[in-house]
Amino acid sequence: MENELHVAELAVREAMGLCLAVQATVDTAVLEKRDRSPVTIADFGSQALVCRSLAINLPADPVVGEENAGVLRQPDQSEFLDRIRNELAARGVTADGETICDWIDRGAAAPCDRFWTLDPIDGTKGFLRGGQYVVALALIVDGQVEIAVLGCPGMGNADSEGLVFSAVRDGGTRVAPAADPDDSRPVRVSDCAESIMARLCESVEPGHSSHDRSEMIARTLGLQGEPVRLDSQAKYATVADGGAEIFLKLPVDADYQEKIWDHAAGSLVVTEAGGTVTDIHGQPLDFSLGRTLSTNSGVVVTNGPLHQQVLAAVAATETDRDSGNGN
Ligand code: AMP
Ligand code: MG
Repeated sequence: MENELHVAELAVREAMGLCLAVQATVDTAVLEKRDRSPVTIADFGSQALVCRSLAINLPADPVVGEENAGVLRQPDQSEFLDRIRNELAARGVTADGETICDWIDRGAAAPCDRFWTLDPIDGTKGFLRGGQYVVALALIVDGQVEIAVLGCPGMGNADSEGLVFSAVRDGGTRVAPAADPDDSRPVRVSDCAESIMARLCESVEPGHSSHDRSEMIARTLGLQGEPVRLDSQAKYATVADGGAEIFLKLPVDADYQEKIWDHAAGSLVVTEAGGTVTDIHGQPLDFSLGRTLSTNSGVVVTNGPLHQQVLAAVAATETDRDSGNGN
């Protein structure tokens, strides 16, 4: 898996560079959601770059990505496609619009026994806010996540150009600055075993995870601090690196099925750092069922020692949204 890891890290770093360049053009003070075109350009550009790298280096591997080029192929989108083309050209990748659409659509494969799953920008709202977002890439073989790379452009210091978390199943998790990949260190969860000392992180968006319910759970556990709210799988990276002990994603909408690209990379980054990842019922996340985690409900991530206690607190706030999918 060494070659696969190397290819995945290179691809994610390249996409992070594009995302940072596009994000620098966003005026976060005035923009927020009014003009979503920068995030759309970075989203398509990121998927094009990652799929291109995988096509060159691992041509037999299909990709299950969040985006497809259907809209971009329409004639009235040519100006938009040109903007994506210019962003790629600025990173030394020159191609015509058709080729770019073909790269993006390499990510439209169906899940099978061995495939990559990609979220080219997870946390689009964080991207627009100037907060956290990630490029998430994972290799799934026979329903198991084997390799994970989480590129986090908003983490690290001013010189790092973001952090890249990498995990290989049974091989541990490491992190390195995007600007200096050789300067990596092992990543380990916190060893906190007392819930009153634990720190919780959750979505910024109350529509993605119930804040009311997490507040009840926090009270049950006796947590002292306020929850840290972050967009994207940066929450998985934060627990993996000991910056928090608990990350909860609590269902708001019973019909919502979690997407594999929102959890595959993050979950391996945490488990290989010593943490535990289940759904809210304590079941392992099942990546063998296609594009969604159709039999799971929500996500509970902890540093490990606190997991059973957190699951018990979650169960104590059980609602009929928990069954998921109306079943
Ligand atoms: P977060 O960054 O924690 O706000 O989570 C972002 C992810 O939530 C996105 O990548 C979406 O795929 C996912 N999402 C979208 N709608 C919902 C929903 N109704 N419930 C849960 N997650 C959602
Ligand atoms: Mg996402």
